[in-house]
Amino acid sequence: MTNIYYDADADPTLVARRKVAVIGFGSQGHAHAMNLKDSGVDVVVGLREGSRRARMAADAGLKVVDPATAAEWADLVMVLVPDQVQPELYDSVLRERLEPGDALFVAHGFSIHFGYVVPPDDVDVVMVAPKGPGHLVRRQYVEGSGVPSLLAVHQDATGEAKALGLSYAYAIGGTRAGVIETTFEDETETDLFGEQVILCGGVDAMIQAAYETLVEAGYPAEMAYFEVLHELKLIVDLLYEGGISWMRHSVSDTAEYGDVTRGPRLVTDETRAEMRRILAEIQSGEFAREWMEEYRSGAPTLAAARAEIAGHDIEAVGRRLRAMMPFLVDKTPEDDV
Ligand code: NAD
Ligand code: MG
Repeated sequence: MTNIYYDADADPTLVARRKVAVIGFGSQGHAHAMNLKDSGVDVVVGLREGSRRARMAADAGLKVVDPATAAEWADLVMVLVPDQVQPELYDSVLRERLEPGDALFVAHGFSIHFGYVVPPDDVDVVMVAPKGPGHLVRRQYVEGSGVPSLLAVHQDATGEAKALGLSYAYAIGGTRAGVIETTFEDETETDLFGEQVILCGGVDAMIQAAYETLVEAGYPAEMAYFEVLHELKLIVDLLYEGGISWMRHSVSDTAEYGDVTRGPRLVTDETRAEMRRILAEIQSGEFAREWMEEYRSGAPTLAAARAEIAGHDIEAVGRRLRAMMPFLVDKTPEDDV
């Protein structure tokens, strides 16, 4: 049975006795830092000199210093920079500033689980990972609620690691919704599998293939876009609200019949075998090695894929159609700060 913890299981004084540095002020960083501050925790934000986010953090009433100063001062460091950046940040800044009894926190197990960050034995290593993007973590907290979160202990040097993790989760609102205990291994491997096989990789590849199939067959690109991309949100919302039964109940009987008879023809034994191969690459660390190599060589695969999709017809059609729907917030990567 999985352990799930709530407010009553947490001791808020543990994190309140700490000096907390949140490194990074992106999706997760801004939510953690602001929630901690509003919970009365002594928190600073660590950002590189000249970071565009420093202004936002200062405007939110947070103290902002460089990552080294933050880590030096703190006895609990929450690392919320991108996973691929964590090893170099750890090696160049954090490692020498971890003292016995300090705590190193992360919100995803990647760099620790695959051994790209190896903290000393005398430091607690804990993951507190909200199962939602930062803006939701912040908004739920402000509204008096929270986002369900995962808690895992990689290393318990003080005997207090788990209780400290729960205390931190309390301060960001996680225990209001429920904190599920897991391991670094399970969190990291299932997270990567989900984003590769369905959430990002699987869905993107299906959208593109379905769009190309319709357009090749002579259907108008606009119709193809609506059917295979735009309407996906309606279906995902139903799945999110009530699972597969609710979605099938809500669509037409015709759609449901097409679902149950055609869906399985798309996910064949070959597809399942490929899923198992993808999982094995994650488990063996092969995917992590490949991605770290890609990142260290300047991410050429990502650059090529970004250019390719930017030039794809589906993106141009999508821009035209979204302009007809001012109720949508049309976004491109360039809009992100
Ligand atoms: P993000 O890209 O939104 O933000 C990263 C932040 O790190 C930015 O403030 C950026 O300026 C800063 N940064 C980048 N390089 C830096 C460096 N070298 N030194 C100092 N700061 C640097 O990232 P995110 O999505 O918030 O992810 C942070 C962590 O949270 C990751 O481990 C991620 O897996 C995890 N996580 C993310 C989500 C999510 O929904 N976004 C959910 C759960 C867990
Ligand atoms: Mg995830």
